[in-house]
Amino acid sequence: MTRVEYKQTEIAVKKNLGQNFLTDRNITRKIVRMSGIGPRDRILEIGPGFGALTREIAEICPEFTVIEKDAALASFIREEFPVLHVIEGDFLEADLTSLAQGEKLHVLGNIPYYITTPILFRLLDNRHHIASETLMMQHEVAERLTAEPGTKEYGILAVQLQSFCRVEYLFKVGKKVFRPKPEVDSAVVRIAPRETSPVIDEEGFRKFIRTAFQQRRKTLSNNLKKTFDLSLVTSFDLQRRAESLTPEEFSQLYLELTLPPS
Ligand code: SAM
Repeated sequence: MTRVEYKQTEIAVKKNLGQNFLTDRNITRKIVRMSGIGPRDRILEIGPGFGALTREIAEICPEFTVIEKDAALASFIREEFPVLHVIEGDFLEADLTSLAQGEKLHVLGNIPYYITTPILFRLLDNRHHIASETLMMQHEVAERLTAEPGTKEYGILAVQLQSFCRVEYLFKVGKKVFRPKPEVDSAVVRIAPRETSPVIDEEGFRKFIRTAFQQRRKTLSNNLKKTFDLSLVTSFDLQRRAESLTPEEFSQLYLELTLPPS
């Protein structure tokens, strides 16, 4: 079992909690600088661990909230940063409405990789409470989030996120700046929810994106014909494949397909 020690606190690393701790201060500084946070912002950090990122955030904004699932680490953070609001618990169960308290949250974190996608979708579903997200994740997921049409990385995740948010790949982080060393490289991504939604029925739109990509090599027409009345479409070539459509084209096509009859 791997053990990690920091300031006389030793813990057994819990792989099932995605624990890979950052050891390079240049990286934590860069993440915080590129997040653009200021002293008056309402900040939430996911998974502070031993506080590598926490320390840098606190230099800019001394009071904020962190949420950590590991009890030993939550109490370490409580002792190390007495001013912070430390929640011991699962981010996926956190009530973002009450954490935001009528403001918008800036979310930061070197997030646990075993739940990257659930975290991204939870933030997406609560995006009216979010001003920005600066998150470190697996490099491969960062590439999929920020992918452009026509590339092999472009798919459901890119279209869903980019339809509702501006998503920016910031920089790559190699394995060797973590303890223990993860199996894959990482990258930092910045996500900022858009002011307006391209569609009203978001649930329906998200289902539509999944249907359009159901069989990647097939045309839009083949993937959509069972679920939608394609005769409603006037301005799209349905022989195209889903992977060639921009997020804006996805919402335009969805609107054409779901327009109430006049
Ligand atoms: N921020 C620290 C750093 O950069 O060194 C730790 C990052 S480590 C990749 C992920 C952290 O998230 C760990 O401290 C882990 O215990 C915590 N964690 C895992 N699952 C969590 C969950 N569901 N909710 C909140 N924190 C979680």
